[in-house]
Amino acid sequence: MAAEQNVSRVLAIAAHPDDVDFGAAGTIAQWTDAGLEVSYCIVTNGDAGGSDRLVSRTEMATIRQAEQTAAAKQVGVHDLHFLGYPDGQVEATIALRRDLARVIRLLRPDRVVCQSPERNYARMGASHPDHRAVGSAALDAVYPDSRNPFAFPELLADEKLEPWIVREVWVSGSPTPTNYVDITSTFPRKVAALRCHVSQIRDPDGLEEFLRGWLSRAASQAGLPEGRLAEAFQVLQTG
Ligand SMILES: [Zn+2]
Repeated sequence: MAAEQNVSRVLAIAAHPDDVDFGAAGTIAQWTDAGLEVSYCIVTNGDAGGSDRLVSRTEMATIRQAEQTAAAKQVGVHDLHFLGYPDGQVEATIALRRDLARVIRLLRPDRVVCQSPERNYARMGASHPDHRAVGSAALDAVYPDSRNPFAFPELLADEKLEPWIVREVWVSGSPTPTNYVDITSTFPRKVAALRCHVSQIRDPDGLEEFLRGWLSRAASQAGLPEGRLAEAFQVLQTG
């Protein structure tokens, strides 16, 4: 795969447990199969998720971390970082930019996957306020925060985290995608990953059909043959 040249480490940043699986798990399975090391950074614990009011919110956070950890395994990801921000209240603050710059400097990814800071009017679910806030802070963390030694100087002074340049960013949920990945071969693993989010999936029987409809629309936008499935990204060169 030509696109994988010189890329060995990938960091996927997302607002909630399950976001990475909806947006990119089929693509990530292909990357880990190709030998890329992929890590996840999940900003919230997803403690506002689910519909069961009898489950305490603290309990829900624990459940969702475990679900995301199990989902990651389905696509070859074993390194997860949970930042523990309150679900539903994320803003693109300086503190969040610092936390994301810290993770980027620690893991030194060649490629970051994140959510779109832009509202996608065609897909409201992609544009949850937490997604937009995390997408915005992630892009700010890629440029300029993680590469500028004078941004958050305490990361270097106190934590010895050297500046790092992320060379490319793959934005999921973008209203203007540029790249489509044919994920037909890894679709069963994407479904398996999503099925791990038991507390979130209200209609497990309808899940696969829902995903097929959505991913085949992306495949047809990409000009792929009938029956193929694709995930869509806006790829930015940030090196
Ligand atoms: Zn979400």
